[in-house]
Amino acid sequence: MEIIIAKTAGFCFGVKRAVDMAFANEYQKNTYTYGPIIHNEVVTSALEKKGIYAIDEIEGHEVEKLIIRSHGVSPEVYEKGNAQNIEIVDATCPYVKKIHRYVEKYDKNGYYILIAGNADHPEIKGINGWGRDKCYIAKDVEELKAMTLPEGKFLFVAQTTYKKEVVDQMRAYLAEKGIEVEYINTICNATKERQEEAVTLAEQVDCMLVLGSPSSSNTRKLYEISQSHCKRTYCVTGASQLNREMFDNCQKVGITAGASTPQSVIDEVVAYINQ
Ligand code: SF4
Repeated sequence: MEIIIAKTAGFCFGVKRAVDMAFANEYQKNTYTYGPIIHNEVVTSALEKKGIYAIDEIEGHEVEKLIIRSHGVSPEVYEKGNAQNIEIVDATCPYVKKIHRYVEKYDKNGYYILIAGNADHPEIKGINGWGRDKCYIAKDVEELKAMTLPEGKFLFVAQTTYKKEVVDQMRAYLAEKGIEVEYINTICNATKERQEEAVTLAEQVDCMLVLGSPSSSNTRKLYEISQSHCKRTYCVTGASQLNREMFDNCQKVGITAGASTPQSVIDEVVAYINQ
């Protein structure tokens, strides 16, 4: 069986940077990550072995050092950290940081902020914070249609991992309604390239594996995209979820992986298939 691994499979630049920054911390009491550094248990349990655990709130913990993951956080977290003399290791992805700066600036200049994204996603919660928690957030064109937008100037940005097609539909709707927005393309190329490569790969294989946690939104999106081009697409967290039947009559298998999937998981899966 031929195995083709996507070149873009696995950690993107921002996640690799955040994971490296977290692991660069020597064992030290009261060091935490603000939320899991990535959606991957292999990585989070390795960090726990170094004594670094994830917390969702500063409150209730004695925190000396706080590592902020690539998703970024709202200004409130920095304020609380500074007020309590907590050392902050800021591993926010520079691309997300850029959105924070835009939102902060446009908000100060009297713009309303419209975000294409999932309101429950930590990246969006963080971005919303930079717009004083007053941003308009729509996950798709349907949600946008159901919204009553005020009269005024708008900045329109998107969650970095969002599908371009969804954002394009929203932009088309805004144009149709004559709602003028200043659009800044904030979709990250790492996501786009990984998604495009998944399409090309899914079209040429009999079976496609998307490695990553189903709780990671970029892995889920990768799965959806792959599945629409290759019916036999499986989303698995690692080799332990594979079985022989999945590859019945399969000549070519394609492998891609979400932004939070370590290389070790890809290697493990390849070894399983080769076996
Ligand atoms: S997907 Fe892009 S924006 Fe998100 S962490 Fe990776 S490099 Fe940064």
